[in-house]
Amino acid sequence: MCGIVGYIGNQSAAPILLDGLKKLEYRGYDSAGIAVMNNRTISVNKVSGRIANLCEKTNDGKNVKGCIGIGHTRWATHGAPTDINAHPHLSNDGRFAVVHNGIIENYIDLREKLIENGYHFESQTDTEVIVHLIEKYYDGDLKKAVLKVASKLEGSYAIGVVCADEPDKIVAVREYSPLLIGVGIDENFFASDVTALVSHTRNVIYLEDGEFAEITKDEVSVFDSTGKKVEKTVSRINWDIQAAEKGGFEHFMLKEINEQPGAVKATITPRIKDDTIDFSESNLNDLDVNNISKIIITACGSAYYAGCAGKYVLERLCRIPVQVELASELRYSDPLIDNKTLLIVISQSGETADTIAAMRECKERGAKTIAIVNVVGSTIAKIADHTIYTWAGPEIAVATTKGYTTQLSILYLLSLFIGKKLGKVDDSQYAEYLDEIKSLPKNIQASLDMNPAIPAIAKKYHNAKALFFIGRNTDYAVALEAALKMKEISYIHAESYAAGELKHGTIALIDDHQPVIALCCNEALFEKTISNIVEVKARGAEVLAVSFEDNQKTAAIADDVITLPRVNTIFSSAVEIIPLQLLAYYVAKENGCDIDKPKNLAKSVTVE
Ligand code: GLU
Repeated sequence: MCGIVGYIGNQSAAPILLDGLKKLEYRGYDSAGIAVMNNRTISVNKVSGRIANLCEKTNDGKNVKGCIGIGHTRWATHGAPTDINAHPHLSNDGRFAVVHNGIIENYIDLREKLIENGYHFESQTDTEVIVHLIEKYYDGDLKKAVLKVASKLEGSYAIGVVCADEPDKIVAVREYSPLLIGVGIDENFFASDVTALVSHTRNVIYLEDGEFAEITKDEVSVFDSTGKKVEKTVSRINWDIQAAEKGGFEHFMLKEINEQPGAVKATITPRIKDDTIDFSESNLNDLDVNNISKIIITACGSAYYAGCAGKYVLERLCRIPVQVELASELRYSDPLIDNKTLLIVISQSGETADTIAAMRECKERGAKTIAIVNVVGSTIAKIADHTIYTWAGPEIAVATTKGYTTQLSILYLLSLFIGKKLGKVDDSQYAEYLDEIKSLPKNIQASLDMNPAIPAIAKKYHNAKALFFIGRNTDYAVALEAALKMKEISYIHAESYAAGELKHGTIALIDDHQPVIALCCNEALFEKTISNIVEVKARGAEVLAVSFEDNQKTAAIADDVITLPRVNTIFSSAVEIIPLQLLAYYVAKENGCDIDKPKNLAKSVTVE
């Protein structure tokens, strides 16, 4: 993980690199650096901490001269986040500078050999081997040297290189880490993702694994791993620049929470034509559903929790067994998969390393794969047999919100689509459920508007040492995501429990004033959850209940209540999570946390 960026053109490179790094900062932010070349001399500026420190050090780039350069914002994997370990790394002779996203798995061997050959290392990073190897193999042709070095590297990487002897070019290469080229007029760029490019150009070339780009001011040439030229198409990005900015909100997270009605609408509308679900864009209309004996959903983090909520809906509407598996576990579990398994892969970035690996493993065993991703052209989108995009737009806050709800909305559509094909949903249910899905944007908006008291409730709970979220069935799935949201941005220990499990152990943790957040939207199981609320209250807990606005019973029993518009329980998760995202946000704000960039995390986890 981390972000890399490069520029070559007629403008001063440093301010452009810094601006790009700010956009990429959500990918990793423990140190940052730039290398800029001027008159065949490479100058490196790098510091630990945020990009703001680097801006301060370089006077917003004004102190750094040169029109070609590379930059990096780091999420350390090898070596502490110090100034020295920050990228770019320089060769011993100072003629080469390298930025790298990913992990070089065989770096210890390479490092030992380089040390034997007389190279000395400044940092503890795995990355530094790359720049010394380039120096070692360079014989006047940078592209050739990088090609040779790449063939010696094992692991994942997106790399940008500049060389003082060839001051008119940048060479970039990728293997299992995202990288794209921005094509401008009299200037060209590379970056880990489009957010760093949209303010300069909307024309991009997506590199495939193993491909190299030689980038000059006027030209971009792409080669495969054997050095053979590859013809690439230039794609057009239609993301709005404003969409990548904060638009008046205090944090990206709050902006993204509020964008959910629009994001879900943009995601579902193109898939509903004449009151029928239409996945022709993903080539799914002819999916042979009768040949599916089980469905496995795999993902990491919130996408995994979207899968947990999706399982209830898929099983209910399709009557096919559904397993939800953490990608980091599935990949090493020798999974029981055959060509009757449908694998649904979920990833906001489409670059989640564990998810990619799990998907490859399952594909090899014959699974048919459907990917739900947000980033066009991402690795997962390319590998999947079918890709359904969530049109959430760029998600910048590390804690996902609109990524999660748009994933859920696709899972709802997919469940109904497969259920109908299988004959498990009749025509009138189909119409009713589709109406319910179409109403999601309106209901999400209503749940955003309905709870002005959440900041005050957050004041009441923000000092808690621990928070428990309880619920049953779909409520339990939402509890999982709600607890994760709370943990990742407020740093309060939060756990989710299936409400019926409490008395099998966890209830021992309930004490006077222990906050318990009880999710009560699954009304078929409402009375059961109410019993669990009574049990924890009897042991001194303070209960915040989440229920439909017309449910009088929770108000009578809980200390505080968060309400939602009444929706069909099958599809309630996407509405129910909204006030809980807001609760996490306001608790984190109350505690003065860095909400958009929580400590130790990064947005897109492109390492194992
Ligand atoms: N493995 C490299 C390091 O620790 C790169 C990490 C990153 O992708 O930020 O420096």
